[in-house]
Amino acid sequence: MKLEYKLGRIHCAGCAQALEEILSKVEGVESVSLNFISNMVCFEIQSKNHKEIEENIKKAIHKFDHNIEILDPHAEEKAQKREEIKKALHFVSILVSVAIMVCLIALKMNFYLELGLAIFAYALVGWNICLNAVLNIFKGKVLDENFLMTVATIGAFVLGEFSEAVGVMVFYQIGEIFQNLAVKNSERAIKSIASVKESRACLVLDNAEMDVTLDKVSVGDIIRVKVGERIPLDGVICEGETYLNTSALTGESQEKFVKVGDDVLSGSIVTSAVVLIEVTKLEHESTVSKIVELVEKSSMNKSKTEKFISKFSKYYTPVVVGLALVLGFIVPAFWAYANWNEWLYRALVFLVVSCPCALVISVPLSFFAGVGAAARNGVLVKGANFLEALSQSKTFVFDKTGTLTYGSFKVTNIHAEDDKTEDEILEFVAYAENFSNHRIAKSIVEEYKSKTGKDINFAWINGANEIPGEGVSANIFSIDCLVGNAKLMKDNGVKFVEHDSPFTVVYLAQNGTFAGWVEIQDQIRKEAPSSIQTLKELGAENISMFTGDSAAVAKVVAEKIGVDCYHADLLPEGKVEKLYEHIENGKKLVFVGDGINDAPILSTVDVGIAMGGIGSDIAVESADVVIMDDDLSKIPLGVMIAKRTKRIVTENIVLSLGVKVVVLILASLGLSNMWLGVFADVGVALLAVLNAIRALIVPRKYKHKLDKQK
Ligand code: ADP
Ligand code: MG
Repeated sequence: MKLEYKLGRIHCAGCAQALEEILSKVEGVESVSLNFISNMVCFEIQSKNHKEIEENIKKAIHKFDHNIEILDPHAEEKAQKREEIKKALHFVSILVSVAIMVCLIALKMNFYLELGLAIFAYALVGWNICLNAVLNIFKGKVLDENFLMTVATIGAFVLGEFSEAVGVMVFYQIGEIFQNLAVKNSERAIKSIASVKESRACLVLDNAEMDVTLDKVSVGDIIRVKVGERIPLDGVICEGETYLNTSALTGESQEKFVKVGDDVLSGSIVTSAVVLIEVTKLEHESTVSKIVELVEKSSMNKSKTEKFISKFSKYYTPVVVGLALVLGFIVPAFWAYANWNEWLYRALVFLVVSCPCALVISVPLSFFAGVGAAARNGVLVKGANFLEALSQSKTFVFDKTGTLTYGSFKVTNIHAEDDKTEDEILEFVAYAENFSNHRIAKSIVEEYKSKTGKDINFAWINGANEIPGEGVSANIFSIDCLVGNAKLMKDNGVKFVEHDSPFTVVYLAQNGTFAGWVEIQDQIRKEAPSSIQTLKELGAENISMFTGDSAAVAKVVAEKIGVDCYHADLLPEGKVEKLYEHIENGKKLVFVGDGINDAPILSTVDVGIAMGGIGSDIAVESADVVIMDDDLSKIPLGVMIAKRTKRIVTENIVLSLGVKVVVLILASLGLSNMWLGVFADVGVALLAVLNAIRALIVPRKYKHKLDKQK
């Protein structure tokens, strides 16, 4: 079973990692994922004895750090107040220490006065760090940041460098404050995507209206949404018509017109007239809740880079501390010319630089921001791992119907065998298709209804069966009907003449005898050719199209769109097999489908992208990336965002490690002081965090480029 907590402030990302590891070892915990940014921790635990396991988890958290609160959402307000007071006090103490530090540097004073002032300032700004260092030793966490800072600064005191001891502590604290601020701010910015969630709805009863919380609304209820308000739950318009602003869901600025009978998604804003909506989804199933959940959970799916950084940081600190010991003790012990004080000082600089915080914080934050940027533009990426894979994608496979084409078919031609009429053929085909969810089926049924003005009479239909990738079989009016492609006819031994056409042909057989066909035409999405072109420019090496449709149709579409190759007449299983042929070692494979008949593939590939919407449940479940409106150009946009995010991650790694290595080298040569060390630690961390926030912004030129092509 699943378990989720929100935790109070965790001191640093390194601690979060250590805590995650400890929690993973609690008995009964199958998996755990802690997100340092949202402070959410999710568990998968055994359902047997879950009460006991929960208790053990709480105990483990407290044992790890008694300062971490396990928040129940209601207590959050109080905790916030307390936090604020603490923060203000902390701020004042830092100011006082800075003032003292300046005096220490600027004024010449008596040794004892200087020592007294320095100790006072040091205690004021650093007491909590020293305390945590001591407490953590008892908990077996020796090499944590608190401890290293404490040793480094006390060491400086011993060597008589009073102002540096105070200075390192002060800058460390200031750096931490800014870093926290930056992390919290970017978190807020990312979550603002989620702020499109409403908490109340205006429920319309027989003769009254009531303002209620969303959990009071059930499916089938009618709600009223006025101009300027957000739609709180998914539903169907049952009175009125209006324009909708869907930018929160799709990033699209163009408004969408909806009328009675149209589906509307929660999160959109009603902009021109009041409407009544019949609710079709409960609160937790509605689009907006799903988006919020996906974005919040996305950081649980860690990228390869993040995993590498976690591993790396585990070794980094011990290695640097080991080197510090060598510099501080071994070198002067064995080298007669070495000056103890000088080498000890060099070792202390090492200690200051020994925390990998800049990396541990900025890398996940960059990915999280990238996921946020994508979500804001209508591309829901379910995790940093998928964003990273997308940035490296080389091979793309597109499904045809509903993905590269609109999937709404128009009947262009009907053929009836001698003893039938065209109307009869269309009628039987429409009846057989009535229960199918395929886009072909829906289009034909719609066309039948609008052409004849008649509705489907369910009494005539006696059982219907879907044959995936081929068609349907149904008993209509006591006649066994087969409706589908040529393969379906051949498989069932129906004698017929294949109709040679560049469009999709749906054949009809009645009681095993061929009766006629309906030719239907689909249209290529207008942004398809340019999107494929842009993907190539972005480095896609092989783009192919898969379809269950005939080769004749496939050829026409493939040529118009400009894909590198195509495979036709594929059954859903056949698509999976063909896909394996496209897997090349080390090249990330992306599959784009519409979730109809291709759910198994979506979950096989490196990145499965589902088009067309969060409205469709299968797509959202099985895909790794969901394009919320049916806009193909969002795929290259997603790739651009992914690549940019990856670039920012690389910059951060190079920056953080580069500066540290340089300072370490300088320090070992005696060319660096503690000031430089503390910059390499908190200064660089701060820069890296600020750089990470850049991933949240999608450069205008990206969208410009795509808009121009449309
Ligand atoms: P695609 O790969 O183009 O998305 P599918 O795998 O869903 O297509 O279906 C492959 C082919 O099977 C369609 O092109 C169509 O000829 C036929 N087919 C599938 N389902 C139906 C249906 N419900 N009615 C008629 N034909 C169907
Ligand atoms: Mg399809």
